Amino acid sequence: MTTASRRNQLAICGGAPVRTAEWPKWPVSDANTRDAIVDVLNSDRWAISGNYNGTLTYGRQFEQAFAKMHGVQHCISVSHGSAALLAALHALRVRPGDEVLVPGLTWVACASSVLRAGAIPVLIDIDPSTLCMDAALARDAITDRTSAIMLVHATCKVADLDAFTQLSKESGVPLIEDCSQAHGALWRDQRVGTFGAIGAFSMQNSKVLTCGEGGAAITDRTDLAVALEQLRSDGRMYITDKPAAIGNLELEEVDGIQGYNMCLSEFQSAVLADRLRHLDIENERRRLNARALDDVLANIEGVSPIYHDYANETPTYYGYSVRLDLDEYACTSIEPFRAALAAELNLAVELLEPPMNIHRLYRPLQSEWKHLNPDAEQRLSPDRFRLPSSVEAAKHFIFIPHQALLGDVDDMGQITEAIVKVSGNLSSLADSSQSA
Ligand SMILES: *Cc1c(COP(=O)(O)O)cnc(C)c1O
Repeated sequence: MTTASRRNQLAICGGAPVRTAEWPKWPVSDANTRDAIVDVLNSDRWAISGNYNGTLTYGRQFEQAFAKMHGVQHCISVSHGSAALLAALHALRVRPGDEVLVPGLTWVACASSVLRAGAIPVLIDIDPSTLCMDAALARDAITDRTSAIMLVHATCKVADLDAFTQLSKESGVPLIEDCSQAHGALWRDQRVGTFGAIGAFSMQNSKVLTCGEGGAAITDRTDLAVALEQLRSDGRMYITDKPAAIGNLELEEVDGIQGYNMCLSEFQSAVLADRLRHLDIENERRRLNARALDDVLANIEGVSPIYHDYANETPTYYGYSVRLDLDEYACTSIEPFRAALAAELNLAVELLEPPMNIHRLYRPLQSEWKHLNPDAEQRLSPDRFRLPSSVEAAKHFIFIPHQALLGDVDDMGQITEAIVKVSGNLSSLADSSQSA
């Protein structure tokens, strides 16, 4: 075989790939991150429930910086994004049997955190142009049992916050913004997470701000902040009315609500406090690369980048989601395309999550929480939801992980080249998927 034909042949069929080099790695750290971890290690305080040693905990350093960045009064760091969602639901007094609106196409933690609160996840289909919850469908689903709307800013889109803040105001149902895929994004020059009652964040390994496992909840409301803090630290709160005594706990027991331990360790907080300084710069780089990709891909037949109204929206790229028109390609499933693209790029190109009502990890009828409500079985059943736009999106979108967007112009050129190459060779893909 000639070199030229090897280059034209798909890598998945034995041809030469577009790229073999490594992509920028994720997560990233530097000497300052290591110094911060070593500083915790050498101290006698590895947790906020360790003894006060006269210095501000990394937990509080991170919380103060994160609150300041968002222009809100309060940030409560927690152990996971899921913990932030659960604490948000409890702080807003979502009760067993209440209904919470959750997007039909997102990570399972959104629905499972509602289950953990004993409440009923009501799955709302997405708006196909944003991949986020559809505001009109959310409005139709509100009943007198609805006690929260859990909105997710999905993959690289800010949800329609005009519509959702309006809906929340008119219905009196509080809005939780799940920003686990949108750290630092803006809507009309205001950070996401500050439009609803509570903004929730995950800092798990894959996220654009990460310490491995971690989370945070932000709010401007003091009553919610007090509840979130008690929920996080077994009911305890930081001492605020007098200086803490060195060698004693900086947390005090207060009368309030039932809490749990959802604390982030000082190691994790130290990493977050350090990496937060890089967030806006890294996001800007991803955004510029994504815009360059949008411009080129929009001109390719059958490829549709997600539309952004840059006048109102500064998106964060958790991943670059792009729609491929399979009819155009005469392909029955997107999986062969994804696999072929991953092989060309030497990159873990992914699909979106399956719709929640058929998600393998969503098993509400197997959970204990159904026993909390006699009629829960029927209300919890995923079968009762119809999510056609979620089904459609899951079949057509591929998702390029965000570390690829930390590359340079040439790297983006390779992504385009690989998409063009795979789309131009769909007949061989069809052959390989038939033989597979
Ligand atoms: C990652 C993620 C979560 C869960 O966060 P964990 O830290 O893994 O618990 C919740 N919601 C969305 C949208 C996510 O992407």
